[in-house]
Amino acid sequence: MTYDVNDFDSLDVVNNDRDHVWHHLAQHKPFEQTGPMVIVKGEGMRVWDSKGNEYLDAVSGAVWTVNVGYGRTEIADAVRDQLVEMNYFAQTAGNVPAAKFSKKLIDKMPGMNRVYFSNSGSEANEKAFKIVRQIAHKKYGGKKTKILYRDRDYHGTTIATLSASGQYERRNQYGPFVPDFVEVPHCCEYRAQEDADKSNYGVWAANQIEKVILAEGADTIGALCLEPITAGGGVIEAPAGYWPRVQEICKQYDILLHIDEVVCGLGRTGTWFGYQHYGVKPDIVTMAKGVASGYAAISCTVTTEAVFEMFKEDEDPRMGYFRDISTFGGCTAGPAAALVNMEIIENENLLENASHQGEYLRGRLNDLKEKYPIIGDVRGKGLLVGIELVKDRATREPVEEETVMAVAGHCMANGVIIGRTNRSFKALNNTICLAPALISTKADMDQLVAALDDAIAEVTRGM
Ligand code: PMP
Repeated sequence: MTYDVNDFDSLDVVNNDRDHVWHHLAQHKPFEQTGPMVIVKGEGMRVWDSKGNEYLDAVSGAVWTVNVGYGRTEIADAVRDQLVEMNYFAQTAGNVPAAKFSKKLIDKMPGMNRVYFSNSGSEANEKAFKIVRQIAHKKYGGKKTKILYRDRDYHGTTIATLSASGQYERRNQYGPFVPDFVEVPHCCEYRAQEDADKSNYGVWAANQIEKVILAEGADTIGALCLEPITAGGGVIEAPAGYWPRVQEICKQYDILLHIDEVVCGLGRTGTWFGYQHYGVKPDIVTMAKGVASGYAAISCTVTTEAVFEMFKEDEDPRMGYFRDISTFGGCTAGPAAALVNMEIIENENLLENASHQGEYLRGRLNDLKEKYPIIGDVRGKGLLVGIELVKDRATREPVEEETVMAVAGHCMANGVIIGRTNRSFKALNNTICLAPALISTKADMDQLVAALDDAIAEVTRGM
């Protein structure tokens, strides 16, 4: 069915939404006056709301998900055909699209070999944590149950994955948390710690992880979980030296390296996976959002064969296997969509396009930086881009959250949807996030930059 965007009031959709739907990450009070925004159509880079307003979506479904863009009939057709043939059987048995997609995925991940299916980024990470915990019991007599995570990284919305997340805005008021998740310091060169060695910040930041390991005891730590580029915590890429040192530390202390590719995975940064920029060899990789670009709910926990093998050998074969199930990990719509999603990325050269358009976008944003002192830092990789706003370039004092919201509001009024980062423990909530679809064109980037230019001009006028 298609909706007439000019005839939405008659469907009562907006009223029903306002009265009954509990939106995600939303304070509902303002809806009493303005009514909620209801998105009714998407095509390419654009979405339309129930009032008929058109928007350029520069964050791929608000949360960096729709990597191949809206309205992909080839994905919808593949999902429909699969559902008619065989919609569901638990992953206790195999199914055709899961087998095909796993092979295609593993071909892009040298060194990795096993794919465990579930439905969300949080769930994929939760599976990874369970794998680590079970290995701790099977192989290390109940030691090595601790999992390290980094300040400013985010790994999910469940209590365990929040316990592994370094973001105040997401965690506050949801404790108490699960034990044995231990925080390590962030790695953000622009906001390097006061005592940091600025001349070799990447290595210095990695060495802070080692300090935590030594303080906790290496024999208590099973895994280190990191985002390849911190996304919602501020679009932060670690500088040279960080990843080789991280890898070395994991090897030295027999700690599994778990990379959370929920945002960076499937092309967002111009490679299939973010970690592939840095020559990292992970033991576990999790992914979700871009896996099927939001055409179906699917996430994957991918491991090396060595990790998988540990679940085969056990004195008690009835207890030693991975005793975990995700009911909807057996839905075939996910892998059917994911397979075509990968084909689109390949056939349309979207990895190259993401690198190319991302570079162009950052170039244009750096031009804006010349014009507006409020822009403190422009950063990112491929089409994952952050713009950190500051009150003063010299002191790098962050702007208030309201300033970022005002810029986003102006962009929205001009038909462009942008995002912002989450408030971290250090109250940093001053970064604009951009993650347009991998199909972005130069014209889309120009429209985005023009909207930001207008918005920043307007917001800084009185400053
Ligand atoms: N990991 C990262 C890096 C994320 O950004 C997110 C979601 N924003 C998650 C995990 C959780 O994914 P989901 O919302 O699908 O559970």
